[in-house]
Amino acid sequence: MSDDIIPSWQDRLRQSGLRLVILALSAVGLITTYTAIELFRYGELAATMGVEIRSALDRQAAAERVQAALDAGDPAGLAAAVRDLRAGQTAQSADALQISRLLGAVAALPGSGARAAVQAQADDLARVEMAKVRALTDDLARRSALVGRMLSASLASIVVLLVTVVLRTLVYLSQRDRGEAQLRQAKAQAEAANVAKSEFLATMSHEIRTPLTGIRGYAELLLGGRLAPAQRQHVERLQEAAAALGVLIDDVLDLSKIEAGKVALAAEPLDVTALLDRVMGLARPAAEAKGLHLQLRIAPDVPRFVTGDQVRLMQVLLNLVNNAVKFTARGQVTVTCCAQGAGLRLEVADTGIGIAAADVPKLFQRFSQVDGSHTRAFGGTGLGLAISRGLVERMGGEIGVDSVAGQGSVFWFTAPLPACPAPAPAPAAGAGAGAGAPPPPAEVPRVVGRVLIVEDSPQNQELIRAVLDREGHRCALASDGAEGLALARAGGFDLIVMDMQMPRLDGIAATRAIRALPGAAGAVPILALTANALPDQVALMQAAGADGHLAKPFAVADLAAAVARLLGGTGASGGASVATEAFDAIVALLGPEWVAGRIAAVTEGLGWLDRDAPDAQARAHRLVSEAGQLGLVALAEAAERLEAALRDGGD
Ligand code: ADP
Repeated sequence: MSDDIIPSWQDRLRQSGLRLVILALSAVGLITTYTAIELFRYGELAATMGVEIRSALDRQAAAERVQAALDAGDPAGLAAAVRDLRAGQTAQSADALQISRLLGAVAALPGSGARAAVQAQADDLARVEMAKVRALTDDLARRSALVGRMLSASLASIVVLLVTVVLRTLVYLSQRDRGEAQLRQAKAQAEAANVAKSEFLATMSHEIRTPLTGIRGYAELLLGGRLAPAQRQHVERLQEAAAALGVLIDDVLDLSKIEAGKVALAAEPLDVTALLDRVMGLARPAAEAKGLHLQLRIAPDVPRFVTGDQVRLMQVLLNLVNNAVKFTARGQVTVTCCAQGAGLRLEVADTGIGIAAADVPKLFQRFSQVDGSHTRAFGGTGLGLAISRGLVERMGGEIGVDSVAGQGSVFWFTAPLPACPAPAPAPAAGAGAGAGAPPPPAEVPRVVGRVLIVEDSPQNQELIRAVLDREGHRCALASDGAEGLALARAGGFDLIVMDMQMPRLDGIAATRAIRALPGAAGAVPILALTANALPDQVALMQAAGADGHLAKPFAVADLAAAVARLLGGTGASGGASVATEAFDAIVALLGPEWVAGRIAAVTEGLGWLDRDAPDAQARAHRLVSEAGQLGLVALAEAAERLEAALRDGGD
């Protein structure tokens, strides 16, 4: 992956840019220091030279004045010039010899020839002084040039430094932009992958749940009828296996939702003691069956009410307690709850098989079981702890374990759950009917009604119809949203069971259209019955106006209960006579011949596998569902590929 490479060349670039800056800075520093020293020396030298040049010029002028005084025969002028000459005479001076010679010649005046000697000495001194001034000014010019060069070099290195800094900044900015673009791209790719994963899981769950609905539904119907003991046992095993598969699908979906960050946690007041009691109550039967002592300890500083997500908190705690019971043969399981910071710490300690230190890192990971043989012995998917960790981290807490192999384990988790005041009690229904005593449970009559089943798969239509017939409802069928809408518009229904994915008009659009109908027709309760268990799809159905939702595969009892609830009844399933009566009807309707007939119908459909047929894609979709429902997996997969190819216009 390019991620491994990109930082290294970026680093190299950054380092070389940094090196360039350091180099330029050092050069500028050195040159500037040297220039400063040179400038200082130049200043001093220039000052000394100024004095030297001035005194050399003075002495030259004095020598000229000596000559002029001699020419003019001015003894006072001569005396003044000699005084000036003496004042400028120093031992170190290069012109000292000439000065003393001139003075000697002047002292010899007015002897014969002395005047000519003075003249010669004065000329000599003047020449020496001129040469000296010239040498000094040459030196000054040389040094000025040097300082000029140094200043140019400083200026040049400052320009280099500035250019380097500007270039470096540009490189940095472009790198940052590129880095950000790469990050954005990587994020988009990750999000797309996540969406693809969710869609894949949704599709998979759809495809697995649909045949599972059939398996569980028919198993339940079979168990409601007359079966030989061995047959009953087989059907029960079948039902258990289907239930286990259902749990696995739910777990995988749950984990994928958590990992995709799609789990929204509720923040509502919850009663800590009640929650703990409920968890203990759920775990107690299994613990007692194994002779385990199950106990609960609540520290006195634990607040009664906290704000959090009751369902998810229970899910985590129940998973830990169930594991503790599962992996403990004798002894006890103790749940301890104490306050920690602005939250709670929950511990589940057991005296079970424990976990070796080397195996602890394997825990809390997907499909991770310490010992595969445990699964055979104890069951389980190896997803519980991964889901628990995902949920606890989503809550902002931590989860962990302390364990000694052979002695037991302490699984613990913390969660920031701030204390809150007790929620206001809900207003009592039917207030005034005898204050103080709780009202007796209302006797709600079992309600039967006219139900419109909007479902495109004939098999599912018949299964739903069989279940609802058994409950005594009267059913009408519509095989897509448009037909359902037309029937709903005509009115006369107490409830509509609405599938989601259908040709022509899907469940969401049909629900929305029904809700837009005037009067009673638009107010009929709608139960969304879908194979899409993803929350956003369920939310879409709810937003469209569905009153309830049932995920496929559904238990027959759940469908019956959901329908009864929406019709205003108790939701309890019907009596034995009704069940038997309906079962007989279903056996008559959905017996082995029916199944054989359906298979024949489905395979007959293979005849129209013509890409140019106008409804080829819709029929391919139907074939996916029907073949899946009948357990014809290979055919369902082939039909799915066909549907995709027809959709994408592929070959
Ligand atoms: P499952 O229990 O469904 O297999 P979990 O994710 O809940 O999956 O647990 C993963 C594994 O961690 C278990 O299979 C078991 O090996 C180990 N484990 C969990 N809880 C305990 C416990 N209380 N004592 C010993 N081992 C445990």
